[in-house]
Amino acid sequence: MTTPTIELKPSAHPLPAAEREKILASPGFGRHFTDHMVTIRWTEGRGWHDAQLVPYAPLSIDPANMTLHYAQTIFEGLKAYRRPDGSVATFRPEANAQRFQRSARRLGMPELPVETFLAACDALVEQDKGWVPAHGGEESLYLRPFMFAAEVGLGVKPANEYLFLVIASPAGAYFPGGVKPVSIWLSEDRVRAVPGGMGDAKTGGNYAASLLAQAEAAEKGCDQVAYLDAVEHKWVEELGGMNLYFVYGNGGKDGRPKIVTPTLTGSLLAGVTRDSLLTVARDLGYEAEEARVSIDQWQADTENGTLTEVFACGTAAVITPVGTVKRAGAEWQQSGGEPGEVTMKLRETLLNIQRGTSEDTHGWMHPL
Ligand code: PMP
Repeated sequence: MTTPTIELKPSAHPLPAAEREKILASPGFGRHFTDHMVTIRWTEGRGWHDAQLVPYAPLSIDPANMTLHYAQTIFEGLKAYRRPDGSVATFRPEANAQRFQRSARRLGMPELPVETFLAACDALVEQDKGWVPAHGGEESLYLRPFMFAAEVGLGVKPANEYLFLVIASPAGAYFPGGVKPVSIWLSEDRVRAVPGGMGDAKTGGNYAASLLAQAEAAEKGCDQVAYLDAVEHKWVEELGGMNLYFVYGNGGKDGRPKIVTPTLTGSLLAGVTRDSLLTVARDLGYEAEEARVSIDQWQADTENGTLTEVFACGTAAVITPVGTVKRAGAEWQQSGGEPGEVTMKLRETLLNIQRGTSEDTHGWMHPL
């Protein structure tokens, strides 16, 4: 598969620097977009073609575009960070490129070569470098690569044409007022994904499936839903947009901390942050393992004091401590409702690698 060269057609009217700085002072998440986007088309019989970097602009979509009806669409999310020397680097973009290929395979879409995915992200970040927030805090430039069926028609089948795009959006600190634990609703009836389904693909349908449960969680006064397996309604899988970790403060050898994350069963997403934390934890001398964790074990181990902290992890917030947990007929708190020590140590360690303030011993950063 050949990698098309990205033709650069930059905007003649990028946002003036003063206006951009105003946005960067308080970007929020996913509300503002940079001056450019990359687009690459795939057509049956022709492959990937017409790779270009163009001004960010609306797309014109035919009402019978297949994606609007049958949701053949996938996406990724990764971040570019400003480093102390002013340069910019993305975090593990190859891992996102590979997951994008797995998602494509699951939805019957063509697989974008890893090097094309990387070239597209690099081209956009290079062009819109001024949108990467300054070094120091937790701000970053969030990249959103995505692909959707571009064929027009109402027949249900894999499309014969697709559009791949990368857009970018400056992201503020997830917790501007300091890290705050989230509350979790353990949903024992709604499921997010089923065995043999597409829970391990990053596709819009999974997020649509989570919205009603999310609204129910809000009614119960909770921020997020934790999903269980769809067969026994017993095994913890993940949140709607983050993976979960359980911290046993003295659960490892010689009383060292042990962190445990649910096994990848096929119905949860293989998070890049989740994977990175298995390594970061071992670097810190903790034990780290993947195992099945039941909700009854979650509750019992909290009550008997062995499960000392719980946290969620993902690109957006890096690590979010879990505070209150509610399930039908029970409610409890993790680490007294405060961010736990192991949670915060892992958070700081990973963040320092991402923003370039500690050594990148695993070669995770992709400099531009
Ligand atoms: N699970 C789901 C369902 C997600 O959407 C995300 C965000 N991509 C994650 C987990 C965390 O994955 P990552 O660490 O790669 O952001």
